[in-house]
Amino acid sequence: MPNKNWFKGNLHTHTSASERGPGDTAPEHVSEWYHDHGYDFLVLSDHNHRTILDGSDTERARWPHLIPGEEISAVFNEAPVHLGGIGTRELVGPHESDTLVGTIQANIDAIEKAGGLATLNHPNFRWSYSDREIIATHGAWAMEVFNGHPGVNNMGGGASPSTESIWDRVLVSGRRMFGVATDDAHHFQGEFGPRKSNPGRGWISVAAAELSDESLLDAMSRGDFYASTGVRFAELEIRGREIVMEIDPDTDLQLKYTVVFTGPNGRELWTTTGESARFTLSRIDDYVRATVYASNGEKAWTQPVFGTD
Ligand SMILES: [Zn+2]
Ligand SMILES: [Zn+2]
Repeated sequence: MPNKNWFKGNLHTHTSASERGPGDTAPEHVSEWYHDHGYDFLVLSDHNHRTILDGSDTERARWPHLIPGEEISAVFNEAPVHLGGIGTRELVGPHESDTLVGTIQANIDAIEKAGGLATLNHPNFRWSYSDREIIATHGAWAMEVFNGHPGVNNMGGGASPSTESIWDRVLVSGRRMFGVATDDAHHFQGEFGPRKSNPGRGWISVAAAELSDESLLDAMSRGDFYASTGVRFAELEIRGREIVMEIDPDTDLQLKYTVVFTGPNGRELWTTTGESARFTLSRIDDYVRATVYASNGEKAWTQPVFGTD
């Protein structure tokens, strides 16, 4: 990716700007938090509400670049159906239908119509829907493979698959779907803890020409980004059917890294250790994606590379 920079951003965070809450902090201060913690861009994604900040130049300098958006929050049979509308041009609001799949699809369509990228947020929150429903829809840009809210069941449980397994099942069905990590932050006040929705837990890093809506959304729509809960890449390149990576190691904590390349059905194609790895997709495999595991539990996910490209 020549002439590109990596820009770190969070696509999912709440403020106190919308009546439904649930953020505990004003959007100006939420934005300051992200700027102070090294984020380049941010989506203030309140429920069915566009939180748009018009600040002076001095104020803007204390915020990351703000991409407009919204967490479209619909309900089907008491199950929350939440989608991120990233870069939408107008308020989308919830759309309903008489089936679960229809409800998801109606909201994807509405986001597309408003010019945004649609993310499927926290499918395991209240166990609303799974791979079967996702595969029956079309047009969503990405799903949350990690969400930092304590109630979203990223790991799955019982007979319900993890969000990562859901992603693999969607990919093996032939659907192209990217994976994002987000905060879904609500709580910026008081002590931070595992049962609170605190910021800084999940983000994406986008390789884009410049820090603008157009450039970022364009790179995101092509899959030129990775998702992370802490692991960073010094280099990450897709060269045809090959993924080449160099991890930016945390030398303070002396972390060690394991890289797992996953193919169809979540099958492990190759596992390696260390800070550099490369892998070439074989003729028979439909796709490959890589997950990096750090020894402190932090992770990063590359986007899938498809064999038919
Ligand atoms: Zn939500
Ligand atoms: Zn949310």
